[in-house]
Amino acid sequence: MTGNNVRLQAIKDVEAYVPPTPIHPEETPGDIFGENVFSISVMQRRLPKTVFKSVLATIERSEPLDPLVADAVASAMKDWAMEKGATHYAHVFYPLTGLTAEKHDSFLDPVGDGTAFASFSGKTLIQGEPDASSFPNGGLRNTFEARGYTGWDVMSPAYVLENPNGNTLCIPTVFISMTGEALDHKTPVLRSQQAMAVHAERVLRLFGHDEPERVVAYCGPEQEYFLVDSHFFLARPDLLNAGRTLFGAKPPKGQEFDDHYFGAIPERVLGFMMDTERELFKLGIPAKTRHNEVAPGQFEVAPMFERANEASDHQQLLMTTFKTVAKKHGMECLFHEKPFAGVNGSGKHVNFSLGNSQLGSLLVPGDNPHDNAQFLVFCAAVIRAVHQYGGLLRVSVASASNDHRLGANEAPPAIISIFLGEQLADVFDQIAKGGATRSKEKGTLTIGVDTLPDLTKDPGDRNRTSPFAFTGNRFEFRAPGSLQTVAAPMVVINTIMAEALDYCATNLEEAVAAGTDFNEAVQTLLADIVAEHGSVIFNGNGYSDEWPVEAEQRGLKNLRTTVDALPELISPEAIELFGKYAVFNEREMHSRYEIGCEQYILTVGVEANLTLEIGTTTVLPAAIRYQTELASNVAALKAAGVEADLSTLQSVSAPIADLRAGLATLAAAIDHEHDEDPLVTATALRDTVLPAMLAVRTAADTLEGLIADDLWPLPTYQEMLYIL
Ligand code: ADP
Ligand code: MG
Repeated sequence: MTGNNVRLQAIKDVEAYVPPTPIHPEETPGDIFGENVFSISVMQRRLPKTVFKSVLATIERSEPLDPLVADAVASAMKDWAMEKGATHYAHVFYPLTGLTAEKHDSFLDPVGDGTAFASFSGKTLIQGEPDASSFPNGGLRNTFEARGYTGWDVMSPAYVLENPNGNTLCIPTVFISMTGEALDHKTPVLRSQQAMAVHAERVLRLFGHDEPERVVAYCGPEQEYFLVDSHFFLARPDLLNAGRTLFGAKPPKGQEFDDHYFGAIPERVLGFMMDTERELFKLGIPAKTRHNEVAPGQFEVAPMFERANEASDHQQLLMTTFKTVAKKHGMECLFHEKPFAGVNGSGKHVNFSLGNSQLGSLLVPGDNPHDNAQFLVFCAAVIRAVHQYGGLLRVSVASASNDHRLGANEAPPAIISIFLGEQLADVFDQIAKGGATRSKEKGTLTIGVDTLPDLTKDPGDRNRTSPFAFTGNRFEFRAPGSLQTVAAPMVVINTIMAEALDYCATNLEEAVAAGTDFNEAVQTLLADIVAEHGSVIFNGNGYSDEWPVEAEQRGLKNLRTTVDALPELISPEAIELFGKYAVFNEREMHSRYEIGCEQYILTVGVEANLTLEIGTTTVLPAAIRYQTELASNVAALKAAGVEADLSTLQSVSAPIADLRAGLATLAAAIDHEHDEDPLVTATALRDTVLPAMLAVRTAADTLEGLIADDLWPLPTYQEMLYIL
């Protein structure tokens, strides 16, 4: 009977597995960094001067691309890529599934006489038509306009991706419909970046920067992930198909000891990390820190921050690289937000700031009152943005998988509030108070400013429970999930900052035009923003039971689940906001809403079916086998005239009955008709299917603690989390 036990076989295989010998390459990171990137310096070397200048203007100052240079760039790019062994090129795009998609084409064109020559024109560089009609489009691609186009994003560098079977030149692209509507995550990042920049620069001009360089949003994502041995992974159909365990009792030793957090990294994992870093460096991705995370088997990698657009592409590439390299090391990299119930989940903190190379981060307190006033205006804009559009920030990180993490007492709650730290909160407090007498006292601003030198010291009072925290030179949005693209939250951050900076600039411009002293106008603006939006500032414990109650009194939204959050996308305020700043039109908003519903329905649907299948074909049979063993033991004892103790048999029979009942309820819940309104279907899944899955799981997890170990078929939490 046990011969077929995949779990026991997996344990044997894990024991026998010899990880690859760590390579200790001679080169330093500096030697290989950006080796496979068609970077600015490569372009400078390989492009005619005028062409290079033109491309640089697009990259650095967002000037429109001159199509006439495309042929020259394409030709240089092709030569460079072929020298690096590339045989194919691919337009890489980011469809709304959240994944990365690529369509590969060969450089070689058959000539007709049986030979072929390498071709790659400007036209093929600039535009592709991948068809790709199966990607979700939320109604944006009816059959008559079914075509989707990819378009070269000059601002994100092309690169060569190595593969044992041949290398590919990858060109980051946008993905749009024939009517120009966005079908991807990149297009709105670029649009929102542009909107934010316009208004940030208006504010800078008011502060005397007559010709500010283009302001950009920077993004530094911290990626958490789990590693499990591939043998265990393959023996868990739930991990394999859903990315998370749908069954599994909590191990006797959980994360209570905190002995893993920042502990020594296991040798095998270190080998993997070094390998991933080499690959990332080659691709020009600046991986910076690595350490163990809270849960056993959990780790983190944080690349250096980059422009949001590039950071977002790199983040996707990082995830792909991690998955590929993990396999080489006999492991599986899990990016799901909650692969193991009862064990810490994974997030992807999105650190963001605004700035440019001329002025640095605009979210850093300055050395003098004037600079500090500018800093405070940018901070106040963040306060206004987050207060007005907390719901949009929430929906930007909403997914079926992140629902297991947000608000579950280990991640920030689903309420979006801001943590400023004691010092900054105090400054805004004073500004608010000073506001009452500002018209009489001209120097009120200095009340706040006097305390500012303190700000430059590292704010040690970090609050890990806040979803949106000021951390000295940036804000850290902690609600994004580990599996998600950072593009969605960055689009929202850019757009709501565009609105808030627009408001600040307009306000100040008008005041100055009306003859108000500039400092006084700033003081008034700051005081007004704190008065109107200060209720979003919360420095207390976000995990406490009191906070949701207080948040409600403050009028802050608490959108607990994806289903609660999705309608934010089609609220009149959201449609107006995104329309005004030309990030999304109404159709695009609706399409995103529908795709959000669709993705939720698909995810929960797959999980429900898996639960049903694993419960029926794996857990129940194992339980029945054990029950049969016990029953025959009872019968044998009885036949021998020995008094049989029925308690073990009974203790197994009760959860078996629960499991059967749970499976029947789940099957019935799954069978429910899908409603025409996707939100109704999603709501039903949340309210009936998820609880039914949980009931099945509870019975199965109880059985896991009762059944003879040699009969239990699924690798346990203990095994998956502690054997690496
Ligand atoms: P912590 O764990 O303390 O939050 P980490 O070092 O793990 O810090 O990660 C910090 C992240 O913040 C990195 O990705 C880093 O690049 C990013 N970061 C630092 N400064 C900025 C900034 N000005 N703008 C955006 N991101 C930043
Ligand atoms: Mg952090």
